[in-house]
Amino acid sequence: MDKGTQLIHNGHDVDPATGALGVMVYQTSTYYRKDIRVVQEFDYSRGSNPTRKALEETIASLEGGAKGYAFASGMSGISSVLGMLSAGDHIVIAEDVYGGSRYIAETFYKRWGLESTAVNTQDPDNISRALKPHTKALYLESPSNPLLKITDLRACLKIAHEQGLLSIVDNTFMTPYLQRPIALGADIVVHSATKYLGGHCDVIAGLAVTRTQELGQKLYQIQNSFGAVPGPWDAWLVMRGIKTLKVRIETQQDSALKIAAWLLQHNRVAEVRYPGLPGHPGRDVHFSQASGGGAMLSFKTKTTEQALNFYQRIKLALAAPSLGGVETIASYPVKMSHINMPVPEREAMGITDTLIRISVGLETPEDLIADFDQALSG
Ligand SMILES: *Cc1c(COP(=O)(O)O)cnc(C)c1O
Repeated sequence: MDKGTQLIHNGHDVDPATGALGVMVYQTSTYYRKDIRVVQEFDYSRGSNPTRKALEETIASLEGGAKGYAFASGMSGISSVLGMLSAGDHIVIAEDVYGGSRYIAETFYKRWGLESTAVNTQDPDNISRALKPHTKALYLESPSNPLLKITDLRACLKIAHEQGLLSIVDNTFMTPYLQRPIALGADIVVHSATKYLGGHCDVIAGLAVTRTQELGQKLYQIQNSFGAVPGPWDAWLVMRGIKTLKVRIETQQDSALKIAAWLLQHNRVAEVRYPGLPGHPGRDVHFSQASGGGAMLSFKTKTTEQALNFYQRIKLALAAPSLGGVETIASYPVKMSHINMPVPEREAMGITDTLIRISVGLETPEDLIADFDQALSG
């Protein structure tokens, strides 16, 4: 079945109890026990809820994994997955993953005895060089945030497999519509469903999918005991968002390419980063593992003042954190996602005061270009 069709027909087309289209919002914390001696599938909603289960089954099938789990946020999902590791373990983590993911590894989990090494995964050999006898996991993200750097997922996941590491890939930017890390060798895929899957900037949620039933069981213990689960309304909103993922992503990435090409020839723009642009570093690798460039791009103005002016002057695009909604969002990484990173470190990675990150929405691209043009000329 085509991926686009699978978004609509995901096994939860019809409510079995009523015939209503789609899954119901089961707004309940607990369930009536028919036989007091028998533990039921639906017993208590921290452990299981039919609306959440529908979302979990949907993401598992979209990512091609065995089990799916939903969380109250992307970060609680990522934290729960990292909770599968133990004190004394070491993890290799891509240096430019989502800021919060590195932050939790390097602060909270460090206090609990997890050691981590951040490396540039654009060169997979850096992973091999960072391995220690007690390395247990590899954590990746491609394209990266906010510079859209490309990691060769197959090559990195091969190293993880050979070393017996648990491999985790954050697939938020691509979604399973464009990229399926489990097919490329990953053990676990994580998502901030707050972004493209929800798609409307109206819900915070996270998802994780495991390659095997066994890994799923392990993660379920954490989901059920930590209890960082979404409520049924939030699970339902993500289910609804997923239905329109294809048309949103296709339209948004067409616009992203137009805008990136336009930015490239602007005299106040020093650099444009978009995986769909010819010449983007790692473009061939990207298109060998994903079927589109996505709708995230970033660019650098020539001066910091021009960047600050841009945020002051934009009218259509909203200056805000987050991404993946129907509205175009302009984020300022140095004061948002990477505010906790020491300045020399982020500068060395290319995250400068002149860097602007755009999540391209569903507006007509010519309108966005006109808005960016007036904002850049200020
Ligand atoms: C937003 C984001 C997260 C964190 O998700 P929340 O839903 O905000 O907790 C993780 N990874 C990526 C790539 C993100 O963009």
